[in-house]
Order: sequence, then C-alpha cells, then structure tokens
Amino acid sequence: MSNPIVKCSVDQCSHYMPGDQCMAAKISIYNEEATGKSEQVKDTQCKSFHDRKTMGDMIGALHNANIGGTISAAFMDGTQVTPEVECFVNNCSYWQGNNVCNASQIDVFGANAAKTDDTDCRTFKKKN
Ligand code: SF4
Ligand code: SF4
Repeated sequence: MSNPIVKCSVDQCSHYMPGDQCMAAKISIYNEEATGKSEQVKDTQCKSFHDRKTMGDMIGALHNANIGGTISAAFMDGTQVTPEVECFVNNCSYWQGNNVCNASQIDVFGANAAKTDDTDCRTFKKKN
C-alpha cells in the first residue's frame, strides 16, 4: 500500500519535529466539518493536530507517537520519519479507496494553528 511522505510546517503541533517532519504514528486528513466536503485546500484539515500548549492534548499526542526504532534511527542518521496517512477527502484526485492517499508526498501547513481546522493539506487537488 502506498503512503506519502509527510512534510509539515505546523510548528504549533505537538507532533511537529524540526525539519518539517511529523512524528505521529498515524495522521488523519479530513474534510471541513461544516460542509463535510472539500472544494479547496483550505477545506482540508489534519485531524491529528494537537496543540502543544495544551497539556491534556499532550497526553493524547503521546499515545500517537512514533516511538519505535524508526524515530531513534531517524535522529541518528537524519532519515525522513513519516506517519501512516489515512485520508477521508474523497474528492481529491490523490484519494483512493480504503482512505489511501497515493501522492508521493503531502505538505501540511497552517500558520499559528490553534485547532485542527487551522491546518490544511496543501497537496489537495480537486478531482475533475
Ligand atoms: S499538524 Fe498533522 S501532520 Fe503536522 S505535525 Fe501535527 S499531526 Fe503531524
Ligand atoms: S493529497 Fe488529497 S488524498 Fe492525499 S492527504 Fe491530501 S487531501 Fe488527502
């Protein structure tokens, strides 16, 4: 099964790691909640965002941390760490059945994010 490399610049997230890496074990990309669909990049969101300023969320984040050999090995040799990606944005051209994203890389961003809705998948491309 394909899995994109995740680049993320959301440095307010407790999963964020310098080098624009995400150290979550798994992330979930969702549609905007209000409409339940995505027409443009801003309608997508990383549901796995955890505000690093919130202690309660910090505990949630630790449950989803990629603390296996992968991450320590990555720190040692600078290899890219990447979470498993599941995506529910089924009108994106990279979306495949079973919530798979078949892009080779996704870019998640959101300046000064305080909640999941402040984050977006920049790689979203609406299906024709
Ligand atoms: S916002 Fe999402 S992709 Fe970015 S570091 Fe947090 S969990 Fe990972
Ligand atoms: S590129 Fe499309 S399918 Fe992949 S995670 Fe982003 S919105 Fe989902």
